[in-house]
Amino acid sequence: MEFDITYVKALQVLDSRGNPTVEVVVITEGGGYGRSIAPAGASRGKKEAIDLRDGGTRFFGMGVSKAVEAVNKVLSPALVGLNSSDYRRVDKKIIEVDGTQNKSRIGGNACVATSLANIKAAADTMGVPLFTFIGGFKARLLPTPLMNIINGGAHAGNELTFQEFMIIPVGADRFSEALRIGVEVYWSLKKFLKEKYGPGAINVGDEGGFAPPLKKVEDALEALSEAVKLAGYSLGNEVLVGIDAAASQFYNEKNNKYVVDKKSLSTEELLNVYLDLTTRYPIAYLEDPFYEETPTAFGELRKHLRKTLVIGDDLTVTREDLVTRYLKEGFIDGAIIKVNQVGTYTEAEDSVRVLLSNGGKAVISHRSGETEDNTIAHIAVGLETGLIKTGAPARGERTAKYNELLRIEDYLGEEALFAGVKPLLK
Ligand code: PGA
Ligand code: ZN
Repeated sequence: MEFDITYVKALQVLDSRGNPTVEVVVITEGGGYGRSIAPAGASRGKKEAIDLRDGGTRFFGMGVSKAVEAVNKVLSPALVGLNSSDYRRVDKKIIEVDGTQNKSRIGGNACVATSLANIKAAADTMGVPLFTFIGGFKARLLPTPLMNIINGGAHAGNELTFQEFMIIPVGADRFSEALRIGVEVYWSLKKFLKEKYGPGAINVGDEGGFAPPLKKVEDALEALSEAVKLAGYSLGNEVLVGIDAAASQFYNEKNNKYVVDKKSLSTEELLNVYLDLTTRYPIAYLEDPFYEETPTAFGELRKHLRKTLVIGDDLTVTREDLVTRYLKEGFIDGAIIKVNQVGTYTEAEDSVRVLLSNGGKAVISHRSGETEDNTIAHIAVGLETGLIKTGAPARGERTAKYNELLRIEDYLGEEALFAGVKPLLK
């Protein structure tokens, strides 16, 4: 009885880009309280769940009052009375009530906030942290952070083709120490960029990384290398490099070409760019290297790479059927997991389980439009993925996740484990 949902209510709030988004509160009979806020992407995959937006003139069409109403008038009556801890049943109900392939009736934004608020309410009713509710008392693996410290593509007002240039601090035995390394490199990068390119180079992009006026992919990788050196670390040892090319953003469907650094490249030429870069920089992680509708290109690249993980994001959109198929066909080493790409926690959890149980990698991820909601920190620890992607160690909506991971590490004390380099190995 005490786990039964008694209250579900939504509210329109704002995300980190100032866009309206959906917040949902779920309360149980036993007084358990859960609140979650939907994030939003800027470089979305075509097959993602659809966020319901109002259109019209208010908020230039970006309002979510229809999604809020859908929660209050449609989802709420359907969920009240269900057992929150039986989250699979709750999520099934959300999926049923929506009734579409891509959550377009209720809205992916309404679904994700409700689904996550529900597991939080269940955990609170049980009196345990969310990561324990998810993974049981054995869950104590803190993830290695993929820290996006140079922003390009759709996340910045510069000319960098690739969307994200990440550092991966692996040379530590605790999460907090890895985070410290990441912070030191971030600050060293700031110093380097300011000295070399002037004060305008240290403005930040959507995910808190710097958005310098660099022209070439290579310039960004050079800047990362210099920053790592300046911070006193050795690239390829304590700190590895990751890239999210987000290639669908610079792909031209009409001529089947990619525009990289102002040059038009065929799929094969782009593949050669990646092969060249991976021989010159310790790139351990490469996300969405090609257009999302060319999975075989991912596979072709993966065949050539011994030390670099090939990861799907727009390609796989957290869908269990897609991650299963592409992992089994050998096209990818793993996938990004964003709950709002599919709309419910259960669907995301199923994708993580299928990846991890088949030797794949699962990277729990934020979106470029985020909020103070820190649920993904708990999901990463609870599901023991060993990897999280949540931006630079700057801007409140990014540090909200890092700070929660610090709290979890502190709570676990000596019991806490840190994933380190292991999840980055093929
Ligand atoms: P998005 O991008 O949140 O803007 O869609 C993040 C990513 O591509 O990983
Ligand atoms: Zn991505």
